[in-house]
Amino acid sequence: MKRIVLIIALFFGVSACKVNPFTGQKTLNFYPNSQIFPMAFAQYDQFLGENNVVKGTTEAHMITRVGQRISSAAERWLSANGHPGYLNDYKWEYNLVKDETVNAWCMPGGKIVFYTGILPICNGETGVAVVMGHEVAHALADHGAQRMSAGTLQQLGAVAGNIAIQDPQKRNMFNQAYGIGSQLGAMLPFSRSHETEADRIGLQIMAIAGYNPYEAAELWKRMKAQSGGQAPPEFMSTHPSNDTRINNLTVWAPEAAAEAAKFGVTSFK
Ligand SMILES: [Zn+2]
Repeated sequence: MKRIVLIIALFFGVSACKVNPFTGQKTLNFYPNSQIFPMAFAQYDQFLGENNVVKGTTEAHMITRVGQRISSAAERWLSANGHPGYLNDYKWEYNLVKDETVNAWCMPGGKIVFYTGILPICNGETGVAVVMGHEVAHALADHGAQRMSAGTLQQLGAVAGNIAIQDPQKRNMFNQAYGIGSQLGAMLPFSRSHETEADRIGLQIMAIAGYNPYEAAELWKRMKAQSGGQAPPEFMSTHPSNDTRINNLTVWAPEAAAEAAKFGVTSFK
């Protein structure tokens, strides 16, 4: 039995490595966009149907504007670095949901939600860009699909030899990996390395989009201050704001500004 598991793991390991264009590193991911994205799009639509989507307000327009600038920056970066078709399957959407929960997320394929509750901590458009850049980076780097792949390998270990992952099981893995919808609170946190990666990528694309990368550390300081209050932000449960994170962002800000300069962006808002 163990040997079968090993063979399966090797098979997936060899056939399912995808290179992260932002880091150049191989990642374990055997779920292609064509499998993940339709599930994400359906869950996203369901979520919007069951929640209070804010339309037409200044804040709703701001979320859309920041999202469009960030995704366009990602597109420019990918094209300039030899990955012109990378975002072909993405269907970007940016929605503001009326909910006091302090949270924001991006599902695979570019489906983004900001809750009104996170806006005070964002403290304006640049802060929104920090959160947006970070969440979009998770989606660009396929962190969810990697988490799902790791979970599937564990599951394969439990049911050795059963290569065929039936649809209901796949949905279960998806729900565990994303937990969007009714069980948002149950969403698994990303690993620390995924968080660090999303911070670094997010910082670069926000800078290319014209937002001040030096403001990123300030956002996380506000988040940290809030976490000491009576009701820690939901966002904190999956995004612990520690001093390492704040220090990293401070150190990387000049690097992000330099990256933006390559795209002709030399002043920030
Ligand atoms: Zn994150």
